[in-house]
Amino acid sequence: MRCCHCEPSAGTVSSVYSRLRFTPINSVDQTQEEQPGSKLLPQCGCGRGCCMAASLVFRLHDRGPELVREVLLERGWEEYDKRHRHDEDWNLYWRASLFHKSDYYNLMPWQRLNHHPKTVGITRKDYLTRNLRRMRTTFGSGVYDFSPVAFILPNDYIRFLAEYNRQRMSPGLPVHWICKPVDLSRGRGIFIFEDIKDLVYDSTVIVQRYISNPLLISGYKFDLRIYVCVKSFNPLTVYIHQEGLVRFATEKYQLSHLGNLYSHLTNTSINKFSPFYKTEKGKVGQGCKWTMSKFRHFLHCQEVNELILWQRINNIVTLTLLAIAPSVPHCPNCVELLGFDILIDVKLKPWLLEVNYSPALTLDCQADIAVKKGLISDLIDLMNYRWVDRFRDRAYKRKLHKCLKVNRSSYVSMPALTNVKCSTQKVKEKKQSQVKLPFLKMAKSQQKTSDLVPRYQRHLPPVEMNKPGAESGIVSTAKTTYTDNKSVDLILEPRTKLTGTKRLLCPIISTRLPDLSEVTNHDDDETETEAVPCGETDVSSLTCDTPTQDLESKPSADSWKLPNIHSVGQRPVNTTSGQSRDREAAVPPVRVGDFIRTFPFNSATLKASQDCLDVKTVIQELLKLTAKLSYCSRHNRRQRLDSAREGEGDGGFESLFWGPKDPPLISHCLKHL
Ligand code: ADP
Repeated sequence: MRCCHCEPSAGTVSSVYSRLRFTPINSVDQTQEEQPGSKLLPQCGCGRGCCMAASLVFRLHDRGPELVREVLLERGWEEYDKRHRHDEDWNLYWRASLFHKSDYYNLMPWQRLNHHPKTVGITRKDYLTRNLRRMRTTFGSGVYDFSPVAFILPNDYIRFLAEYNRQRMSPGLPVHWICKPVDLSRGRGIFIFEDIKDLVYDSTVIVQRYISNPLLISGYKFDLRIYVCVKSFNPLTVYIHQEGLVRFATEKYQLSHLGNLYSHLTNTSINKFSPFYKTEKGKVGQGCKWTMSKFRHFLHCQEVNELILWQRINNIVTLTLLAIAPSVPHCPNCVELLGFDILIDVKLKPWLLEVNYSPALTLDCQADIAVKKGLISDLIDLMNYRWVDRFRDRAYKRKLHKCLKVNRSSYVSMPALTNVKCSTQKVKEKKQSQVKLPFLKMAKSQQKTSDLVPRYQRHLPPVEMNKPGAESGIVSTAKTTYTDNKSVDLILEPRTKLTGTKRLLCPIISTRLPDLSEVTNHDDDETETEAVPCGETDVSSLTCDTPTQDLESKPSADSWKLPNIHSVGQRPVNTTSGQSRDREAAVPPVRVGDFIRTFPFNSATLKASQDCLDVKTVIQELLKLTAKLSYCSRHNRRQRLDSAREGEGDGGFESLFWGPKDPPLISHCLKHL
């Protein structure tokens, strides 16, 4: 097969048109079914990687993390190599550090980044402290009581001193403090103190109340690493992975030895160097990690009321995200994998220690392998690349459609690129005044525009060499196995609902984005299907795909389109009458792989998260649910059933209860606790 780089006539309308006809009609297959076989597709041999039909391309910053590479290669993706690919010829860009502001502005519709802008508001220790303090002031310390009181020094020194003295004066056990540099991670620079004379620092630090009564297993301290995926901040859509890690200290907990980091810190980066790392440590065993499944089993054996614990952790995640969600710019093509570190005290109260921006994805032990590979794989499923490719595919068709409309009569002989440019120019002029960009980045130079064909060609399946006309690149639609009636419709009358594109290309990044220099908690070097196209759960089947809408309507639902393999009885939610059908259908699946949707969790929170996030309502709903769950767990069966009835009739909106093994539906929990 030849491509535009090997074939001089590639720029003619006829060749473009022939490619167009071979554009995968069911781009559904592109990401789901193509993966195992994508390598088998013939390539042109031009060496630019532009003809590798339907393959998805990932780009790793600084060549890592290795796990992401491994998972994506196994799924049939290809790694971006700038020597062989165009600048924008990738689908996913993964980096452990912050993206630059321009990375968000220059995103193409098919491209995804693994970070949302501005999440630094919770991933840097001092920002998290400040944001949670603000939320506590606004919504009450009863709700925001899950983070140990903290002070940012030197700024808060006077306030800290006052609190320190107050604690010193009050009767009871002595209070301990932990000092952490804000710009370091993996336990570096951390120390614990009781007496203020031991507090020494030479950079900005947070001094936080030390949770001195942690729950211990065989005398060892541990914390939980919870993996949270924020699929979207607007509308807020959150998933928590069922698997996670339990990270142990490697020496027994002793308050009398505050200087022993192997006893007080649970960071793997520290404990893997402990002399006791490989020693059998009671129930903990060797090493310093468990999977969350093992921890669940442990809790079960202890007859602990697990559900309340999971719900509290759930609440911590949601309440923390609420602190920044309204200020995160809308960026539908971004996803965020966060690592929440949770410490549980002897009273089974979970505490938030910090939120990690780039949770470590190194595989140090068996528990890592068991958890992280599945995690990344599920994350990729959650990103639902099928749809991104549809964007890309249709954007291409749409552009060609415009070109063909202008030159339909003479399409065989007219040079395609001229026409593309010309129609592009018209669109550009028309749109310039509206600050709305069409599907492709019209603001780019003409050279970029003329690059259109080669850039898109990678997504076109190869011409079957045994078909008549294949060699010339002109194959009759009727004779090709790639085409059907639907495809002809798509070519001649694109029905693309490229709603995401408009917003994507004009990101609302009005507020200041963090500079690259801003440090956030990433412990990355510590050591991160279904193919049924339009099921009932697939909102695309309910939307009106008209070209007019393409440019004007909102895309919120698009970023929510996910494979429906794990959807449990999802039905469109009955929302207020004035809302569009998109809105009604915008219920993200309850589960994708081991990612359980934790927000929105009922129709009220779904509604509250639309357009402008109603934080107050969300918090009220969260409190209501928590109260119901604890009520049910305390009272007899009859009362439980009464309460359960209250939980029913939520317009068919069902949510799974994150945490327990084989997560039950929340409504089921309320009935059968
Ligand atoms: P880092 O980003 O350096 O990992 P963390 O805030 O996660 O910093 O703290 C490192 C470790 O210190 C935690 O994993 C936990 O074991 C311990 N730790 C941190 N804060 C507290 C606290 N307030 N109370 C008890 N232990 C804490």
